[in-house]
Amino acid sequence: MLVLFDIDGTLVHAGGAGRAALESAMIEVYGTTGPIDELPFDGLTDPQIAYTLLSAAGFDEGSIEKGLDLLWVSYLNCLRSELIIRQADMKSYPGVLSLLDALDEIGATLGLVTGNISGGAHGKLEACGLGGRFLFGAFGSDAVDRNDLPPIAIERAFTETGVHFAPEETWIVGDTPQDIACAKASGLRVLAVATGRFSVAALKEADADWVVPSLDHTADVMTILTSSSRAE
Ligand SMILES: [Mg+2]
Repeated sequence: MLVLFDIDGTLVHAGGAGRAALESAMIEVYGTTGPIDELPFDGLTDPQIAYTLLSAAGFDEGSIEKGLDLLWVSYLNCLRSELIIRQADMKSYPGVLSLLDALDEIGATLGLVTGNISGGAHGKLEACGLGGRFLFGAFGSDAVDRNDLPPIAIERAFTETGVHFAPEETWIVGDTPQDIACAKASGLRVLAVATGRFSVAALKEADADWVVPSLDHTADVMTILTSSSRAE
C-alpha cells in the first residue's frame, strides 16, 4: 500500500509561516503581494498561488516567470526565519505521529503529494517534528497543477521501492477538495480529513471516498486505509 499525504491542514499546522514567508518574498522580488489577504491558499500549489496573486496585480506570465527562481530562493530564506519565530504555533495534528507509526509497522510506503515547493515541504515537516518520515514525494516545485502530482509521486515510489503501486492500492490523504480532485484524476483512493478549512460535509460533497473529522483515532483510520472496498 502506498499512502501519499498532503502537508498543510492534513499533517501539520505551520502557524501561518508559509503565508508570511511568501508575503515577504513577493515584496522583495516583485514589489507587491497582489490581493494576498483575499486568497485562501488551501489546496493550491505554491506556483499557483504566485501566478494567481501576481496576475491579479497586473503582471503578465513572462514577467512572473522571470522572477520565480528568485522568489523561491527568497521564500525559503524567509520561511526558515518564520518557522523559528513561530515555533510555538507549529504542530502536527493529533494522531498523526501514531498513524505514521502504525503505517510503518504494517510496511506501508509513505510519501507526499503537496502544493508546497520541495524545500518548503521539508522545512515545515521538520519544524513540526515530522522530519525524515517521508522518503519521497511530489511537490509544487514539480508541477503547477496539483492533478499532475500523483503520477510523479507514484513514479518516485517505484524508484524508491521497486514496487509499481496500482491505483487501488494507492491513497491520497488530504484536507481540501483539490486533494480529492487530484486523487480522482489519477483513479486513486482518497481519505479526506476535516482538520483544515473544509468541514466533513464539504469534503463529502467533494466526493471523497472516506471522510474523517481528524486523524486522531488511529485504529479507525487504519481500518479505512486497509479496507479493500471503496466506501458506499
Ligand atoms: Mg492541505
